Amino acid sequence: METEILREKSPEEKGGPSAGRRQEKHGIHIELTNRNIAEVIFDNPDKAANIFDEATLDQLDIALNAVERIEPDAVVFRSAKPKVFIAGADLDSLASANEELLEHLIVKGQQVFQRIAALPMPTVAAIHGACLGGGLELALACDARIASDDKVTKIGLPETLLGIIPAWGGSTRLPRLIGLPKALAAILSGKAYAAKHAKSVGIVDRVVPRERLNAAAVKMAGGPAVSRKSFFLTNNPLSSAVIRGFARRNLLRKTRGNYPAQEAAIAVAGRGGNGPVDRSLKREREAVMKLARSGEARNLMRLFRLQERSKKFRYDPKVNRDALPPVTRTAVIGAGVMGSGIAQWFAARGASVILRDIDRGKVAAGMESVRKLFSGAVRKRILTKHEAMRKMDLITPSAEAVPLSRCDLVVEAAVENLEIKKKIFADLCARASDETILATNTSALPISELCEADGVTHPERIIGLHFFNPVSRMKLVEVVVTEWTSPEVVERVLSFVRGIGKLPVVVKDSPGFLVNRILMPYLIEAGKLVDKGYTPAYIDKAMLDFGMPMGPLRLLDEVGLDVASHVAATMGESFGARFALPVCIKGHLASGNLGKKSGRGFYPYEKGEPVVVMKPDLPPVALSRSAIAEQLAGLMSREAALCLDEGIALDADDIDFAMVMGTGFAPFRGGPLEYARGRKTLKLERNL
Ligand code: NAD
Repeated sequence: METEILREKSPEEKGGPSAGRRQEKHGIHIELTNRNIAEVIFDNPDKAANIFDEATLDQLDIALNAVERIEPDAVVFRSAKPKVFIAGADLDSLASANEELLEHLIVKGQQVFQRIAALPMPTVAAIHGACLGGGLELALACDARIASDDKVTKIGLPETLLGIIPAWGGSTRLPRLIGLPKALAAILSGKAYAAKHAKSVGIVDRVVPRERLNAAAVKMAGGPAVSRKSFFLTNNPLSSAVIRGFARRNLLRKTRGNYPAQEAAIAVAGRGGNGPVDRSLKREREAVMKLARSGEARNLMRLFRLQERSKKFRYDPKVNRDALPPVTRTAVIGAGVMGSGIAQWFAARGASVILRDIDRGKVAAGMESVRKLFSGAVRKRILTKHEAMRKMDLITPSAEAVPLSRCDLVVEAAVENLEIKKKIFADLCARASDETILATNTSALPISELCEADGVTHPERIIGLHFFNPVSRMKLVEVVVTEWTSPEVVERVLSFVRGIGKLPVVVKDSPGFLVNRILMPYLIEAGKLVDKGYTPAYIDKAMLDFGMPMGPLRLLDEVGLDVASHVAATMGESFGARFALPVCIKGHLASGNLGKKSGRGFYPYEKGEPVVVMKPDLPPVALSRSAIAEQLAGLMSREAALCLDEGIALDADDIDFAMVMGTGFAPFRGGPLEYARGRKTLKLERNL
């Protein structure tokens, strides 16, 4: 195999107009096979991932000059990274670009990918690893796509989740390749498909084992062209107008008009399947320029960056993480709703788990929930039957006290009662080794008091690990640090939490920690509005329109009014009257209406679903829904600002991030502090 390394001068060497911004790095090179097929190989030397920034687009442009000069019989585009094809565009450059630079980046990407589409020889994208956004748009510009069946291969266009649309040709080429309905489904959901799924919808043409990918791609490039279906029936102007109308109605039902990127995607990709490519690319450019300036895109991109920050966060950079023993053997105390969910998640991610409860019936019920969760994963094809069985075997159920000295981590998820938890912790200290990390999943109880309880030793290994319900769906975990917790324990726990695919946020030990502390005044105020005569449905609709995934009174019913009142009482002891229960909750509790679990709370329930009557029963002088939303969201902002002042979280970013990930706070609004900043409603802005 001969190798040709690009020697053409970069624009910087030529002293081009934007030379100052370019990095002089060779992230792309070409190898020529002995069958005269050119392999264009992406391998960013500075990062674990290949991403498209201005310099990479320039290098690709130069690589295409070389391809045109070499005139190979075919071209294969591939990556040398172990887990990434191309992970998309560099969000930092997009977020920081001024109008002129942004337009330049968009035009440049479109032009370079158009050059690929126009190459006279066959082109194939060999996809292994993340092929997202701009990565897929490059692949779509090729004549054919082949992907590895490896788990790391993920293919999709996630732009709408970031408040923009695919604008390097993705909104134009995908509908042409797979037909409008499937293209809209992919673009509007922003989902990353596994290779087999991508093949079933037609995005890739072949799926092969990873070891055979490169050879198969070269063979495919040299072989006959893949025959393509016509999508005239769905893509013609008449049908596409109908499909767009239908998609828009469906979308607005879900988003209530809060996500302009999805609407723009319907307008642009919905027309992208027919007419001249140039005209469609122009629509992509115009739409993305407008969207990229929107508050929604700014907030969604910030949240994406905060997720990345959470994945890398160091609590104490002085701690040598590599020297810390990994957490592999765990135990969970309490096999109820949370304990069984936590045990299943740990096992699914490869940790061994002892699942212990004092009640034999609860152990059996907990294992049944675990089994159901694994069956769900098999149904969704996340795991094979065999994998699910192997992972389920990692859980040892026990109704007896067992030695825990070999455990690296024990998570207590028993009832929310401080005295019971104190006893459990004293018992854990006697059973576990001095190095075993002891964590509690308490929702609101002070962890420091557990550290000081009789019989509790080595408080430096005691920590809060607050998972949210349902564990399998909620990505956030509050890692609660007391004044005693050692930095090594925090770093070990952070590595473990990230290792099991969750996103940690470090918070200070204080009643309700961060998320429940901010949520509770909002839930209580919603109850007070019911006391004033508003119907639950009216209040809940106000918050759904605001962008919350569920109204506050529905949420109270889900959590359970008994649980919520318990949490409110704990916080009330420290923070006073604003956590006092509204009359309506006390009334429900007195009549045994605990919410969904008892069949009645703010709503009556039939087969687990609330019966919502949208009768606009309002008090004589009623606030509009938007005024209610402003008032309720404002309470979250106020509590969030207090948390910031008290140092409960590291900074405003962590608070916004935790509230969006932990409660679904309208992501496009950026979180309670960002929302307040935008509306200039807070006095405490010195800290924001
Ligand atoms: P649950 O009532 O469903 O389960 C508690 C289990 O603990 C029961 O099975 C009980 O038999 C068991 N238990 C009681 N004493 C025990 C002991 N001494 N040793 C072993 N097991 C014992 O409760 P849950 O909803 O799973 O909550 C558990 C913990 O998680 C609580 O601290 C709660 O505040 C917290 N939490 C709950 C949620 C939620 O939404 N349910 C969310 C986050 C955190």
